[in-house]
Amino acid sequence: MVKIILPLAAGVVMGMWTLPARAAGPIRVMLLDGESGGPYHKWELTTVALRKELEETGLFQVDVVTAPPSPQGFGNFHPQFEKYQVIVSNYDAMEWPAELKAGFERFVKNGGGLVAVHAADNAFPRWREYNQMIGVGGWRDRNQAAGPHWFFQGGRLASDASPGNAGGHGSRVPFAVVARDGEHPILRGLPNVWMHQGDELYNSLRGPGEHMTVLATAFSDPANKGTGKDEPVLIVLTYGRGRVFHTTLGHDINALSCVGFLTTLQRGTEWAATGTVTQKVPANFPTANSVSYRTDIAAIDPNYKRGLNGLDAGH
Ligand code: ZN
Repeated sequence: MVKIILPLAAGVVMGMWTLPARAAGPIRVMLLDGESGGPYHKWELTTVALRKELEETGLFQVDVVTAPPSPQGFGNFHPQFEKYQVIVSNYDAMEWPAELKAGFERFVKNGGGLVAVHAADNAFPRWREYNQMIGVGGWRDRNQAAGPHWFFQGGRLASDASPGNAGGHGSRVPFAVVARDGEHPILRGLPNVWMHQGDELYNSLRGPGEHMTVLATAFSDPANKGTGKDEPVLIVLTYGRGRVFHTTLGHDINALSCVGFLTTLQRGTEWAATGTVTQKVPANFPTANSVSYRTDIAAIDPNYKRGLNGLDAGH
């Protein structure tokens, strides 16, 4: 008996010693919001869904940090980035003071995770380091100076540096998402193609595109104001020691209710924080032929409860 017990006990103790500190508790998430480029992004509402989707995994402890609207200034806004392992940004502001930007850069550079959701890639057109983190962005007067337009062609990443504005999309109809790196931890076990719930399919995003891997694309249909190109929709990047997951999906609650969206958000946030993914793929994940969405998430939108599908304009 002694011969069996001793190695087991030693193994347990060694196992405890080698556990990383973060395994002791949930992953701490700062869900950043507070501003949008226009009323078409209802961040107060979408934050509720993003928070629910992260918390239901049991992996994350989420604090919502709401920045003041720009005109009020940021004098009393001192978010403690270092308390968190990952920042999930549902935030689209024009500019930040230098001190705030430096703290954010330090956080990611030193190994903090960043998740940029949809219009977070509209934010900060003139902040060079932020655009390095997200790889590509759109609107807010971005043009060729921001970098080339990145897309997939012939099975690989390509770019076009010719002049033009950054950012476009058609009407919010369901579309197919195509995995381009199915072995990445975020996508492992997911189908190669799945249908995404009606959403804005961003096109013509521009940026430096450095240290960037496009995990999934979607075909931007010219019949729906598209480019005719396979546009990036799920992207990972590194910035210093930090990992970045950038999803261009998630315009509104309807889009956020997609099981494909929430699964990649949950997995992408864990990956950005830890470099690994421990979550199983849900059984109701969408297929190549049909969308799958959660009515409990969709019901966060009062328009859904009233039987309406808000078809407001914007990006
Ligand atoms: Zn949008």
